[in-house]
Amino acid sequence: MSLRLQLFKGCLLLATLTVLYNEFLIYYVTLYYCSYPKEPVKNEGTVDAMILADTHLLGSRNGHWFDKLRREWQMYRSFQTANTYFSPEAVFFLGDIFDEGKWCPPEEFQYYVKRFNDLFYVKNETKRYALAGNHDIGFHYAVTPYLLERFQSAYKSKSVKRVKLKGLDFVLINSMAFHQDGCFLCKEAEQRLDKLSAKLKCEGKDCVRPILMSHFPLFRDSDEMCDELDEASSEEKFHRFKEKWDVISNASTRLLLDKVGPRGIFTGHTHNGCTTDHGGGVTEWTVSSFSWRNRKNPAFLLARFSNSSISVSKCMLPDENTVINIYLLLLAAVVLALLRYPFYHYYVNYVRVRRKTCVFRNNVDFNLPTNGFV
Ligand SMILES: [Zn+2]
Repeated sequence: MSLRLQLFKGCLLLATLTVLYNEFLIYYVTLYYCSYPKEPVKNEGTVDAMILADTHLLGSRNGHWFDKLRREWQMYRSFQTANTYFSPEAVFFLGDIFDEGKWCPPEEFQYYVKRFNDLFYVKNETKRYALAGNHDIGFHYAVTPYLLERFQSAYKSKSVKRVKLKGLDFVLINSMAFHQDGCFLCKEAEQRLDKLSAKLKCEGKDCVRPILMSHFPLFRDSDEMCDELDEASSEEKFHRFKEKWDVISNASTRLLLDKVGPRGIFTGHTHNGCTTDHGGGVTEWTVSSFSWRNRKNPAFLLARFSNSSISVSKCMLPDENTVINIYLLLLAAVVLALLRYPFYHYYVNYVRVRRKTCVFRNNVDFNLPTNGFV
């Protein structure tokens, strides 16, 4: 086999192995180190859930087709690998499933829903819940009955929805419906909240309070106190949140805490991870974006709920810098191999010529006259 062919085959093999690792195996290797919390121990009364936020599936207006293809492949592989490893009983999508759900025409919305189902399919026994985000139906000022209705019918969601899993209560809300301004959206949400609050009321030791899920985080000033692997950048952390835009208003936060009385809260929207203490043992987990379009190190949560505790593990997904560095190493190896070829070729020729010259000299020396000496 010629040297040129050998080099070509070597480069092709290296490239194939690199792509296989970066685009497929890396998800198994990375998620291998993640697991459900050890406590409480899994039993018939516990619920294992996967919680993710802000997938922002691209539509027809924003983003390059390659960006869309790559991000969807990354999310598909991550989600399906997690599904294989962790077999959650429930998966919660905390809103902003689509990037252009607020603009897209009906046909495109249907296509969006189909793509969502293709990318994030789950086993029959797994329950899947989706909350509305501002990119799915628009911010409060832009929500129309049509946009609301099409999202709600696609995902069987409501402005306030109670979900019961193994006797544990989960309350899923539409964050855009909590401006308390009497609009069609907020009025209905408050009525539902009142009704639900009456049903959830319980007192005494045996009372198991619900878990609240929302797209917008509950009110907080900023991400300044967050201390997470996937937290906001140092500049972003000090950005002051705007009520009803970045976070639920202070007044609606108090309303929700009062009426729902949650023991734990899960939110999204900021694209950055954070844990907030609301006092009285109530913790809020803000889940960072699941898309590499929004951050280089996306994450999701694995949670185990029991009637006495909420335990959470954070699973970090492959860092895009690592993937890029591996591809750069491949490129460097191929360039070195290609550069080496002419040098090596020159060296082989040089050695061959030298050898011939030596043989010729030896032959000449061997035949020199001996001047009679033996
Ligand atoms: Zn959002």
